[in-house]
Amino acid sequence: MMDKFVYADNAATTSVSPLVLEAMMPFFNEMYGNPSSLYSIGREASEAISKAREKIAALLGCKAREIYFTASGSEADNWAIKGAAHANIKKGKHIITTNFEHHAVSNTMKSLEKEGYEVTYLKVSSEGLLSSADVEAAIRNDTILICAMYANNEIGTILPIKEIAAAAKKHGVICFTDAVQAVGSIPINIADLGVDMLAFSGHKIHAPKGIGALYIKSGTRVQNLIDGGGQESGRRGGTENTAYIVGLAKALELAAERLPDMERIKNLRNRLIEGIKKIPYATINGSLDKRLPGNVNVTFDYIEGESLLLWLDMNGICASTGSACSSSSLEPSHVILALGVDSEKAHGSIRFTLGHDNTEADVDYILEKLGPIVEKLRAMSPLYERIM
Ligand SMILES: *Cc1c(COP(=O)(O)O)cnc(C)c1O
Repeated sequence: MMDKFVYADNAATTSVSPLVLEAMMPFFNEMYGNPSSLYSIGREASEAISKAREKIAALLGCKAREIYFTASGSEADNWAIKGAAHANIKKGKHIITTNFEHHAVSNTMKSLEKEGYEVTYLKVSSEGLLSSADVEAAIRNDTILICAMYANNEIGTILPIKEIAAAAKKHGVICFTDAVQAVGSIPINIADLGVDMLAFSGHKIHAPKGIGALYIKSGTRVQNLIDGGGQESGRRGGTENTAYIVGLAKALELAAERLPDMERIKNLRNRLIEGIKKIPYATINGSLDKRLPGNVNVTFDYIEGESLLLWLDMNGICASTGSACSSSSLEPSHVILALGVDSEKAHGSIRFTLGHDNTEADVDYILEKLGPIVEKLRAMSPLYERIM
């Protein structure tokens, strides 16, 4: 067994909080009734779902009936994008997005392109940022949807969603944001933000995998997702996942309570960055200013990110290359490429994402192992030998 274990991949998923699990348990044991049933254990389940919806709405600054539960962040992304595209086809077939979205968004765009929609992929800067002016300039008469992620899952950069939403509103275009990485890490108030749709996911905020939600502002033209027994206001059929819905609300409540801890996490991140800067030929990717508190993404020249990950794993450290969903592929990350990093270098990129469970000792342990591993891998690299 490893003497030490450091989980530094909180953007891939997070541990389920014991308090979340505790809130969920009664809905597996005593209150297992179908929320549509009229007897008491059904009514209790239905009331728990209503309370969860109200709690989430209060925490995010919207109305309870504007929150729709889904089975994942990916489902919420698909629903928002395809739902808006299909419902507004009479107005046009043009969609604006960015070139560094999560695959749940970018692959949804690809599938709409196959249906005949035209998608503009705005290029983010070398810092991983985008201005609302760039978005506004891309709006046409036939634009029906603007879709920009709130915070990037690989490099943690934060886009000016409030300004983007304002530009969209000015031109009467629906604005959707994938806020899966942002929710729980930065304060979010939907009323203030002004978006029409917003997606988030449970397992990135210490709830279990397999639960997400989509905010749809009342009056937004979006197709329903699943025909069925009328659940989720008739828009997404299927017996509600009571326990997970309760868990999602509890997780969001905890995340709001623990928001002040983000300052500590940011300090941990800065400590990690300072240590990494002492390693030669290391470049931090993405703006350090407009960035999620826990994210460190670094390119080490002359090594393969995958080899580095394996060595870190042998030392009990969990990190990742690119997004977890694509880390089994040998293609360099589309996000790192979007920053203008060349393909060969992009292979040497890795991501550490710190969260509530991490400590200063974790960061020091990562730094203790990282430098020597990078050195060892470079010693084996023919590319490195050439520059020595
Ligand atoms: C994790 C993630 C998703 C997907 O959420 P799932 O619940 O895993 O489907 C979508 N977008 C972003 C930015 C993510 O980080």
